[in-house]
This record gives sequence, structure tokens and C-alpha cells, in this order.
Amino acid sequence: MSKRIAIVGAGMAGLAAAYDLNRAGHEVVIYEAAGQVGGLAAGFKAPHWDWTIEKYYHHWFQSDRHMLGFIDELGWSDQVLFPRPYTVVYFEGRFYPLDSIVEAAKFTLKHFSPIDFVRFGATGLYLRLTPRWQPLEKVTAHEWMRKRVGENIYNTLWRPMLVGKFGEKYYKEVNMAWMWARLKTRTTRLGTFVGGFQAFLDKLADLLRENGVDIRLNSPVTDIRRSANGLTAATDAGAETFDAVISTSSPALMAHIAADLPDSYAEHLRSLKSMGAVVLIVSLDRPLTQFYWHNLPKEAGFPFLALVEHTNFVSSEHFGGDHIIYCGDYLDPDHEYFTLSKEELLDRFLPSFRRFNPDFDPSWVKDSWLWKTRYAQPIPLVNHSRNIPPLRTPVPGLYFASMSQVYPWDRGTNFAVEIGRRVAGMVMEDLDET
Ligand SMILES: Cc1cc2nc3c(=O)[nH]c(=O)nc-3n(C[C@H](O)[C@H](O)[C@H](O)COP(=O)(O)OP(=O)(O)OC[C@H]3O[C@@H](n4cnc5c(N)ncnc54)[C@H](O)[C@@H]3O)c2cc1C
Repeated sequence: MSKRIAIVGAGMAGLAAAYDLNRAGHEVVIYEAAGQVGGLAAGFKAPHWDWTIEKYYHHWFQSDRHMLGFIDELGWSDQVLFPRPYTVVYFEGRFYPLDSIVEAAKFTLKHFSPIDFVRFGATGLYLRLTPRWQPLEKVTAHEWMRKRVGENIYNTLWRPMLVGKFGEKYYKEVNMAWMWARLKTRTTRLGTFVGGFQAFLDKLADLLRENGVDIRLNSPVTDIRRSANGLTAATDAGAETFDAVISTSSPALMAHIAADLPDSYAEHLRSLKSMGAVVLIVSLDRPLTQFYWHNLPKEAGFPFLALVEHTNFVSSEHFGGDHIIYCGDYLDPDHEYFTLSKEELLDRFLPSFRRFNPDFDPSWVKDSWLWKTRYAQPIPLVNHSRNIPPLRTPVPGLYFASMSQVYPWDRGTNFAVEIGRRVAGMVMEDLDET
């Protein structure tokens, strides 16, 4: 029998969940706080661009089987592109390609001792081959990596990555399973959708609407609570009752809006740690670099963690000839950057562009955009698997499926599809029993 189900959030998880629930014949309403679908993967475009870009740089890996399988099911695989852009790492004043086994071997042979090279190779091979992440979550990546690859390589390659992603405050606490998962899934070819991620997300939203899903944009849910006939979700426009509600918001927001959650569960949600992200985008009238992704160690004095030249991944012809640069950083949610304006960040960031191209001149800048989110990257501490809230909350009919429950894999749209479809399956299983 058809049931009425509300989904809070039209990000990738919410849209994927809606797809399965709708196909099974249920009535689905998606409430989305923003004015567009897509959540953290959403994009935008300047008026003279043909394609969108993501607010926060995004690509797929060839190993993203949940996402690519979903797109295949939708019949849209012909619109997925997998170019081979280059990722480089800054080391002693130069950039080195380091995104394949061959490049990594060349780099370590050139700069480190034969013993370091062998330890690096053996560790890389072990991590690529072992399917067992469980023992690795018992130890921090900081301890494990230092011991296995030695101080030299750890300090050059892995420590900067950990500090960049989790900051000085947390980098020593992240567990090794997180690092294992990252190394396991990376591919050199990176994927996108014709028109950008937003084109895919809008196409999916259109399909859902055609099939009867009610997607309500600009509709933040302010309260979810049990009522006589199920669960009531409230927005400024009023309250409606559903047989089940799935929330895909951040844990802190879930704890705030779900009134009936026991205090201990809400406290658990609030205790989950995460990093925020600040991304400044500039369009230039000419290229800045020849590479796509530049990883920048914090010690080298760059004012951001990564410089990503999107148009070395997707041709600038889709952007009216503009060359698009992301300057991104993962930051503690109370970092100063969250309070700075676009102009203030441009003042801080643009001078460093000369380190990528000595000819750079601020007159090359055509336009700029600033995006900030305080919930961007969950922090998996030691034994994190014991700390993940189940998708079924203690409130019957209320489900929670967020980035913070994606594990041991690093969060991503691929795993948003997986968790969205998994929670939809649970909802249907439970409703079948009632
Ligand atoms: C800087 C950065 C880079 C990334 N790079 C990649 C990448 O290269 N590849 C990749 O695959 N992934 C990447 N990701 C991760 C990816 O964006 C996320 O894993 C994925 O989008 C999460 O989807 P979601 O649906 O779980 O959550 P979200 O995208 O966060 O969606 C949740 C939605 O819920 C809405 N919402 C919240 N509260 C309410 C409320 N009360 N009422 C109504 N709506 C509400 C939000 O507006 C949002 O739209 C990146 C993320 C960041 C921040």
C-alpha cells in the first residue's frame, strides 16, 4: 500500500532515496531549505557560461560504483565524461605530478633514500591490496603512517594531507581506516557530467517531479515530531503528517529539529565532529597553470589548502573562454575565514597566484564568488565504527542518513547515493511490517 514519506534535504542522498521510494509507488515530498537541489554538490553558472561549475570543486572516481551504477540505471551514462587531469603536489618550490603509482615511484626515488622508497612502495601496496579496514580504525593515521613509511615520507606526503583536511587540531586523531579508504578508491581519470554536476542534479529532480515527487524548494523544516497518525514535519508554510520521515541534514541540525529524539541520542549527534570548508572561485581571462589539482602543504605558506584549475579538467570553451580557479580549504567551523568577506579573502589569496605563475597580474581576474559551509567533512576518530548513529533513530518512523554516517569511506556523492538508497530500503522494509 502506498505510504506518505517526507525527505528533509534534496542533496544527493535525499534525491536517491526519493527515486527508490517513488519507484516503489510511495508518495514522496522533499523539503529543501535552499533554492536549488544538490546540497553540497550544487553548482551555479555565470550568464555567459554554457556549463555550471560546482560551488565546491567536485569530480567522480571511476571506482564510484554506486553513483555510476545509478546513472547507468537512469540511462544517462553517455553524459558522463572521464578525462585525465593532473594532480600535483608542492615540494621544495616545485609542483610534482603524484597521482599514479608510476609518478609516486618516480618522485620518491628522486627525493628519498632507497629504504624510504621501499617502505613507501610496500605500504602503498599493502593498503591497496588489503580489504581489511577494521584493524586500521583502531589506530591513528598519524601513528600508523609514521611507523610504516618513516618520518621523511610521512612529513612530505601524508602529514600535509592530514593537516590540510583536518587541521592542526584533529590531524593526529583521525583513524587509519580513513586513509586506507582514500587510497583504495582514487583513480587517475576523474569524472563529471555534461553540463556539470548541477545539470545532472536538475535532470534527476525533473525526472522525480515528472513521476510525481513533490520537491519543495526554499522550505526549511523547522520541526519534526510524533503525532497521532505518524510524524509531522513543519515548515513556515505549515505542518504535514507522514508515515515516515528521512532527514539528510547535518547531525547538529537533526538534533535541533527532531523534538522527540531522546537527549542521549541528540547529544550523540551533537558530539560528532566535522570540518567546514571555504572556497573562493575566480575566473581569469587566461590560464594560470597547466595542472588541475594542486595540493599545498600548510607549512609552505599558501593561504589555502588546494588550488584547483577547473578548466584544466573541463574545457574553458564551456565557460565562454573563462579560466576557472578554485582556492579551497577545510577549516575548523570557528576559523577566521568564515567571518571574512570575498574582498578580504581576494586580498589574502591573489598575491599567492604568482607562486603558480610568475606572470600573474590581478587584471586577469574577471569575476569571483565565495562559498562557505560549516559542515563539509566529518572527522572519523579512532574506533569510529562504534560511534556512528544508526539510520533508524530511536523515534519510530524517523530516519537519519547523513555524510557523518558514511564510513569507512570518505564522504562523497557516490556514498550519498548508497546511503540514500539504503535508508529508502529500510523505510520500505519497516513500512511493509506495519
Ligand atoms: C569542499 C567539498 C568538496 C567535495 N568534493 C567532492 C567530490 O569531488 N566528489 C564527490 O563525490 N563529493 C564531494 N564532496 C562531498 C559531497 O558534496 C557530499 O558527500 C554529498 O553532496 C552529500 O550529499 P547529502 O545529500 O548527504 O548531503 P547534502 O549535500 O549536505 O544535502 C543535504 C541537504 O539538506 C538540506 N537541508 C538541511 N537542513 C534542512 C532543513 N532543515 N530543511 C530542509 N532542507 C534541509 C540542505 O540544504 C542540503 O541541500 C565534497 C564536499 C565538499 C564540501
